[in-house]
Amino acid sequence: MTDKHRIAIVGAGLSGAVIGRELALAGHQVEIFDTRSHVAGNCYTERDAETGVMVHIYGPHIFHTDDGEVWDYVNRFQRFMPYTHRVKTTSGGQVYSMPVNLHTINQFFGKTMRPDEARTFVETLADRSISEPATFEEQALSFVGEALFKAFFDGYTQKQWGCPSSALPASILKRLPLRFNYDDNYFFHKYQGMPETGYTEMVARILDCDGVTVHLDTRFERAMAEGFDHVFYSGPLDGYYDYEFGRLGYRTLDFERFSHDGDYQGCAVMNYGDLAEPQTRITEHKHFSPWEKHQGSVLYRETSRACGPDDIPYYPIRLVEEQALLEQYVARARNEAAVTFVGRLGTYRYLDMDVTIREALDTARLYLATKADGSAMRAFLHA
Ligand code: FAD
Ligand code: UDP
Repeated sequence: MTDKHRIAIVGAGLSGAVIGRELALAGHQVEIFDTRSHVAGNCYTERDAETGVMVHIYGPHIFHTDDGEVWDYVNRFQRFMPYTHRVKTTSGGQVYSMPVNLHTINQFFGKTMRPDEARTFVETLADRSISEPATFEEQALSFVGEALFKAFFDGYTQKQWGCPSSALPASILKRLPLRFNYDDNYFFHKYQGMPETGYTEMVARILDCDGVTVHLDTRFERAMAEGFDHVFYSGPLDGYYDYEFGRLGYRTLDFERFSHDGDYQGCAVMNYGDLAEPQTRITEHKHFSPWEKHQGSVLYRETSRACGPDDIPYYPIRLVEEQALLEQYVARARNEAAVTFVGRLGTYRYLDMDVTIREALDTARLYLATKADGSAMRAFLHA
């Protein structure tokens, strides 16, 4: 490296922490700002005062990845305990296994089919008139047919996204597998686990590095960029431009906390497929730490709604109107020579933690490769 840069990083979540550490290790001076009073962004965890249970304050977070480098990276800062995410769903007065697998199919149709029989059976249910599914609804109908779609996807999706599943892109459903065996692991990645003492401690350790200073309870305003050679911004893209072209649509979540003596639901996450049930899911946090023992239990009843100006943005909606607005912001952002937009809010995408870390590592490396010899690094936003 030729000289020491003053770097501002907006957001002390995974994006900000990883970029900050990597640039500080390379000798730059890094200042990280977060409006919140804590580090770790949305994967923040803390112990519940009443029960002692480790709680995922902004919703359930399970670490899963195929990326060996990212897995090694997080394991340097936390011991990851064995954890396999298994989700149940309540629909029409029964409890089923998710994602839809042979158990779900046999139970739902009252059958005892073997894998090949179930595959053939589901093929007869699937709507074969849809050759290129464009919407969530078309994807589901061509995938599993109407009965399974209504029971497990339609109600949940309407509650989660606040619109009919015919208005949503097929890509949302493509995240979920359909299995013709009894594998009920929610994920299909090579590595999966839970940080032994929580994500907050993991992020705090990433940030514990010479050359990194963290300013909590501090909003970064655009004017503050002037004092820095480069800014990495993991806040909302539209917020950086004071919502000049309008607000990008988000869903926000409400978590209603309640406690219970003992085991309330017997699993970490119970989804609710029926529209008549207001919640999308209930999370029982102690099941995320099966190696700990707690008599008391803390639960979050989760509901979703449109995100207002004072709410926390959770899920980017990315419908047609948002796409047009997004293009305006992206065009503006690409012209910034000294600001790089990163992370789930800065690039307005749903990003899992492992992808967030992968992109943060790549971003830091690109910066070091281009800035070290004095060449300019223009802002880049992932497609
Ligand atoms: P964030 O964690 O959002 O951090 C951004 C930070 O920037 C925030 O702390 C914010 O306060 C701060 N900030 C914003 N604007 C400013 C400003 N102007 N000045 C100062 N600070 C500012 N991923 C998984 O891999 N597994 C899961 O099971 C999983 N579950 C999820 C469940 C939910 C409900 C949600 C919403 C996400 C889930 N994710 C999961 C995704 C995960 O939360 C993200 O990958 C991760 O949080 C992205 O990190 P980030 O640093 O980009 O953003
Ligand atoms: N989904 C559903 N029923 C379920 C679980 C998920 O219809 O029981 C749909 C829903 O639209 C959701 C999408 O599948 O947004 C992706 O599910 P995932 O569990 O990946 O959601 P996330 O982790 O984003 O909450």
